[in-house]
Amino acid sequence: MGERIRFEDGRWIVSDRPVIPFIEGDGTGPDIWRAARRVFDAAVEKTARGKRRVEWLEILAGEKAFKETGSWLPDATLETIRQHRVAIKGPLTTPVGGGIRSLNVTLRQLLDLYACVRPVRYFPGVPSPMREPQKLDVVIFRENIEDVYSGVEYRASTPEADALIAFLTERFGAKIRPGSAIGIKPMSKFGSQRLVAKAIAYALSAGRRSVTLVHKGNIMKFTEGGFREWGYEIAKERFGDKTVPESEVGSGTGDGGRVVIKDRITDAMFAQLVLRPDEYSVIAAPNLNGDLLSDAAAAQVGGLGLAPGGNVGDGYAVYEATHGTAPKYAGLDKVNPGSVILSGAMMFEELGWTDVSAAIVRGLEGALRSRRVTYDLARLMPDATEVSTSSFAECIIEHV
Ligand code: NAP
Repeated sequence: MGERIRFEDGRWIVSDRPVIPFIEGDGTGPDIWRAARRVFDAAVEKTARGKRRVEWLEILAGEKAFKETGSWLPDATLETIRQHRVAIKGPLTTPVGGGIRSLNVTLRQLLDLYACVRPVRYFPGVPSPMREPQKLDVVIFRENIEDVYSGVEYRASTPEADALIAFLTERFGAKIRPGSAIGIKPMSKFGSQRLVAKAIAYALSAGRRSVTLVHKGNIMKFTEGGFREWGYEIAKERFGDKTVPESEVGSGTGDGGRVVIKDRITDAMFAQLVLRPDEYSVIAAPNLNGDLLSDAAAAQVGGLGLAPGGNVGDGYAVYEATHGTAPKYAGLDKVNPGSVILSGAMMFEELGWTDVSAAIVRGLEGALRSRRVTYDLARLMPDATEVSTSSFAECIIEHV
């Protein structure tokens, strides 16, 4: 019998038989989930030799849920994730038309998954547009709830937008063209500091050397500038003996083995990641900056096909493939399962099964080295042999 994962005193309690709910996803979701699950089970089996096993628990969302229950996102699914705390999902179709809840948005609100964590690094053999893609190895912590993504936005010329414009103009003398659309950008000290604290805690536990706060505080002084200021503040308050601001790292004294806290303006950061990627390690960013940076960084190392992600809160986490459902390939056993497989590796690492996580990564690296890869990589890799989703999974398992 499997047991629920618990979270007590800031720690995961994971038995040898944890129950982990999964959503296989729409379109190519079932193809990649089937492959990923086999890789996960093989990695657990090979590392624990029968002493540990994951009890996978299917929960429904998306098209499958709609067909079986009439709801795109049944309450039972949300409740199961809440009870089990950690889940993994394939991509879901975003149905066209109103009135449908988004799983990600609903989960973020329900479980307060305030950090979107996206590790980006190069896997040898993967075609990349850069000359030295191996120099990029960052983990991006993107704030997941606030900023211009908070959903407070009004269409142009609606009573809401017009009323806000009138208020801001009359009360504060703001100059806004009448008839504009209006979006609000809330960024709080609380929301910014808990995200930065999570990034610093990760840097410390993973032995990473720096955390860079990415902001556009030169222009948006109180929101993005606030993020920078609050970030340095929490670093000093909570991690004062283990971190040092870049400005205090003297040429002779060095960082004393502490995590260096830096900050960069967003546009400069995009250039830095291209020009001097090895100077960056952990990145903490507000929602919009983090979203843009994650995909740009993933492109540098060869695209989104191998980019994993996790939405993480305090004691709750949902891991997911970062690409969509690629519906034209659904059921063809064709697409790359790497993104959801690496998301699983992240999940096992977070849960403390670091040997399993390492085994999965080792397997994937081995498969890439053997140049037996899915079509997306095969078409870009000279001398590669194209294999199906399931054969790629087999190949990963061989190298675990
Ligand atoms: P997409 O599903 O990511 O597919 C776009 C293209 O990316 C595919 O045609 C394919 O390119 C490539 N691709 C995506 N996944 C791949 C994989 N695993 N292996 C190899 N190549 C892959 O984006 P979309 O067509 O814009 O969106 C389709 C649906 O997914 C929409 O309903 C959208 O809302 C949803 N979506 C869901 C999520 C999520 O659940 N997290 C995220 C994004 C989109 P080629 O055809 O060039 O080979």
